[in-house]
Amino acid sequence: MNTFAYAHLDESLATKLIDRAGLGDLDRKVRNGERLTFADGVRLYETPHLAAVGLLAHRVRVQRHGRKVFFNVNQHVNYTNICIYSCKFCAFAAKEGEERAYLMTPAIVEQKVREQLHRPVTEVHMVAGIHPTMPYEYYLDVVRAAKRARPDIHVKAFTMVEIEHMLNISGKSEDEVFADLREAGLGSCPGGGAEVLTDRVHKAVFRDKMGPDRWLAAARKVQRHGFKMNATMLYGHIERVEERVQHLIRLRELQDECGGFMAYIPLAFWPYHTDLENFGHVTTGFLDQRSIAVGRLMLDNFPHIKAYWIMLTQESAQTALSFGANDIDGTVTEEKITHDAGTTEPQALNEAQIAHLIREAGYEPVQRSTVYEEIGAGASTGA
Ligand code: SF4
Repeated sequence: MNTFAYAHLDESLATKLIDRAGLGDLDRKVRNGERLTFADGVRLYETPHLAAVGLLAHRVRVQRHGRKVFFNVNQHVNYTNICIYSCKFCAFAAKEGEERAYLMTPAIVEQKVREQLHRPVTEVHMVAGIHPTMPYEYYLDVVRAAKRARPDIHVKAFTMVEIEHMLNISGKSEDEVFADLREAGLGSCPGGGAEVLTDRVHKAVFRDKMGPDRWLAAARKVQRHGFKMNATMLYGHIERVEERVQHLIRLRELQDECGGFMAYIPLAFWPYHTDLENFGHVTTGFLDQRSIAVGRLMLDNFPHIKAYWIMLTQESAQTALSFGANDIDGTVTEEKITHDAGTTEPQALNEAQIAHLIREAGYEPVQRSTVYEEIGAGASTGA
């Protein structure tokens, strides 16, 4: 039984609440299709009236997607945790020789994909550390291995950090690298590695990893070569409100230019086992919902807002469906990155569990492909 009223929003009540929260001017802007400014974004992050911000975002989400919530049946393969970088917020990376360091050969990647052949997996999501010595061909072979195991699978792989690394070590032109990736079977790119697109945050916690301009430049290259991708923001550490808004505006500008972003995915920071562990806290429900809602409102040119349940938690992801999110990610299977940083969420959910989360919140589960083609409303959900 749905008890969450946002799914069946009463318009006049919502307008009254938004007005009383002092956000009526933003409501009018959103209704008129006017783009929100930097100052508007800061207000949305700072107002104590979270419910009103959520209602504004929910309206936009309902206009675009009705009561649909997308999910996919996917699996993760983090092919190595060995990384030349030492980002302070990362608990996943290891140095060569450390006990917890690992590297999957293409044969192991193939085996990982084969292990899931009994399930209706449509996507393999592959991201990893930046290995110091593996050659360019290794990355192509990893993609080929996944396609060999399951030829119809969509390979969504390589953050902008990995893409830039491949461009640097390939000895080939940009055109040749993207042609190689396409030929190997790459379908699209995930959105990780952006963290917070400001120089101050970059200097403080990325250390030597690519900064904002280079992340955006790599994303521009990916999109200009015809690949779709997602975009993330890692929030809840040292970033300031203004920096979050700046991040969103930089993504919005690139989307105006290239149009290749599918979804925005705010990622809640988990501090355990990272160099920011003493920072003191995991994100709050308040910030989680606000991050989804402000993303929906500021990113007027992004089709989808994703509540990634592994980082948000299932509870927060479910609630986010009424704060602007229209996607809850997928079944996942063996996630390492957030688990190394202390998430208490399981390694995987099955289709019926995901459908239950969505239906209980008052929405309609719709299985999708990686690029948001509908595979069937409520298909294979077992519900
Ligand atoms: S966040 Fe990525 S680039 Fe940074 S240390 Fe971790 S694996 Fe390496």
